[in-house]
Amino acid sequence: MSIAAKPLFAFDNSFVRDLEGLYEPWQAADVPEPRLLALNEDLTAELGVDPEALRTPEGVAMLAGNAAPDGAATVAQAYSGHQFGHLSPRLGDGRALLLGEVHDIHGRRRDLHLKGSGRTPFARGGDGKAAVGPMLREYVIGEAMHALGIPTTRALAVVGTGEDVMRETPLPGAVLTRVAASHIRVGTFQYAAATADIELVRRLADHAIARHHPEAAGADDPYLAFLQAVVDAQATLLARWMLVGFIHGVMNTDNMTISGETIDYGPCAFMDAFDPDTVFSSIDHGGRYAYANQPDIALWNLARLAETLLPLLGAQEDLALEAATGVLRSFPDRYRATWDRGMQAKLGLADGDPGDGELIGDLLALMHAQHTDFTSVFRALSPAAHGDATGVRALFDEPAAFDAWAERWRQRLSSQAAEPAEIARAMDRVNPVYIARNHLVEDALGAATAGDLGPVEGLLDVLASPFDQRLGLEAYAAAAPPSFGAYQTFCGT
Ligand code: AMP
Ligand code: MG
Repeated sequence: MSIAAKPLFAFDNSFVRDLEGLYEPWQAADVPEPRLLALNEDLTAELGVDPEALRTPEGVAMLAGNAAPDGAATVAQAYSGHQFGHLSPRLGDGRALLLGEVHDIHGRRRDLHLKGSGRTPFARGGDGKAAVGPMLREYVIGEAMHALGIPTTRALAVVGTGEDVMRETPLPGAVLTRVAASHIRVGTFQYAAATADIELVRRLADHAIARHHPEAAGADDPYLAFLQAVVDAQATLLARWMLVGFIHGVMNTDNMTISGETIDYGPCAFMDAFDPDTVFSSIDHGGRYAYANQPDIALWNLARLAETLLPLLGAQEDLALEAATGVLRSFPDRYRATWDRGMQAKLGLADGDPGDGELIGDLLALMHAQHTDFTSVFRALSPAAHGDATGVRALFDEPAAFDAWAERWRQRLSSQAAEPAEIARAMDRVNPVYIARNHLVEDALGAATAGDLGPVEGLLDVLASPFDQRLGLEAYAAAAPPSFGAYQTFCGT
């Protein structure tokens, strides 16, 4: 006699219920030997699921796509996307599936999604698969972003499939389970709009409003308020990326969410030496997605979203256009406000002063000229705030220029009532010691691909508390050795 096991997740499927036309029902491909490589215990707690249940053969089978979970209505989601500026009308989940939605312990609706789960009707020429390295990369960088307080999708688990995937060389295959506020993208709206079915766009907008921006529902024009909410969320997100030196690398419209969460960690990386033109992705020849271009690209993507909403913004086309344009024009101010506040906090300035913009700009110019490490400089400023500038000076080849800047900065700090030690503590709460440094990520993923998960686990552990400096972890805080060379990331994952 067997007792029916309690389902792991209580799925709901509102996307499937509300949005017929934006997905294809589909099943994951079976994999030969699923083996759990990484499980996010912190996230299991948030989802209210028992991690031990996910470690059982039944749990791992679900995470590998070998067993369809009870109550899931698995679908491949449809979306379009401007890729490097060129529209691909039919992208969609080529190697991914939405399992369904679950409610976390805070009552928030979260998507559970598999990536690398086999070819779908959207696969085009792709094999539908993913390799261990890139899936663990998504896990590691997503957790690093989460710990930095930046809105992001997160990995629940990575399961090795026991089969190789063919890239430049054969690589061990994997399936990632991703948790997101939703997987609705700018590209989802583009796909809906391209069907010329206004009611589909309206259903999608209503669904997205209810799910992500419910305050818009009560506005005079809910769809305009919705656009404003997405613009605000993305402007804030972009500023927060910029404040930690994050470079997404492939800001196509299919990789930009409506929720305001960072999504799709492909060729992304954290900047090391400060240079606004930094590009890591091997395929971004024109530097379209360079560090300093990111806010402009976000706004460009949001303009594509606005276009899809125009038919919902009233019968008079010119008025709709004017209203949408007005909302888009608010992006720079919103971005700037978060950036300024964030930079002031990084410099220990609790209150804003009209001269702060120049002070910030001059430090960045100095860092650029002397190729100093972005993360290290900001962290090393806190001892300098109460007298010990040795560490930060050592980061500059020509410290005299830094000394002149620091003199102005200390003047500014002394205009504040707070004690220097208190200011330094506040700075340490916003300037990370540990980021996902490129050489550490590469080393850890190389080891994982060869079968040793220790370095990935070690890195995840360090990155979970990026602001707490710990003895013995100096190597995690240091810049890459010169032998690491110029870093390049690859898209064909
Ligand atoms: P990405 O660059 O990861 O955002 O992917 C862009 C598009 O290519 C999406 O539609 C993906 O589903 C699809 N894609 C990427 N890799 C594969 C693959 N190996 N097999 C099938 N589709 C893929
Ligand atoms: Mg994508």
